[in-house]
Amino acid sequence: MLGEKREGLLVVLSAPSGCGKDTVLSKLSGVRRSVSMTTRAMRDGETDGVDYYFVSEAYFLKQLDEGKILEHTSYNGKYYGTPKQAVDDWLRAGETVVLKIEVEGGGNIRRLYPDCVSIFLVPPSMQTLEHRLRKRCSETEEEIQSRLTIAENEMKHAAEYDYIVVNDSMECAVEDIQAIIRSERLKTSRSKNMICEVINNAQS
Ligand code: 5GP
Repeated sequence: MLGEKREGLLVVLSAPSGCGKDTVLSKLSGVRRSVSMTTRAMRDGETDGVDYYFVSEAYFLKQLDEGKILEHTSYNGKYYGTPKQAVDDWLRAGETVVLKIEVEGGGNIRRLYPDCVSIFLVPPSMQTLEHRLRKRCSETEEEIQSRLTIAENEMKHAAEYDYIVVNDSMECAVEDIQAIIRSERLKTSRSKNMICEVINNAQS
């Protein structure tokens, strides 16, 4: 099938904490979602190996040392990192891989993979963000304040991204991201293998 000959697409999805990116991400179809490694504690409702690989600091640092982490950051005093192997394998297989990472990681990935696509999901307002953070009742007041300060700083990086999607209605945000992914996959620059195959078939 010709459509299957397209090249893999790496998508960076960043959003301030509490913006609803997990829900949006869970609704995307046809994508591989990279599962990050973190040293933060598991929240109620989260599953090890699904939401994150929850690991000790010693294990995280060992993986980092062995070159098994593609990019990493320290966020609110905890480590977060993207395991390298799965991302490499999926991209080689021509899949769309989504990394749900914060802005520093987003910048690192853009440098490592200049043809990645970056999307910044914004809340309709900072008040909505604070409300959503409080509603999930998973952080202390101190952590909420810290996440709000980080969120304000992260919003300043939104202009560095290829696309900005507002998460006002979750359905619309999902549709917007799905549309971005669809058109990015159809780009000529990502279809070189497919074109070569068409030419080779015509000549043989
Ligand atoms: P949370 O603790 O709310 O799950 O995540 C905190 C922040 O870390 C979010 O902005 C999330 O996108 C980001 N994050 C999660 N995994 C990774 C990762 O592997 N690398 C980077 N750079 N950021 C990550």
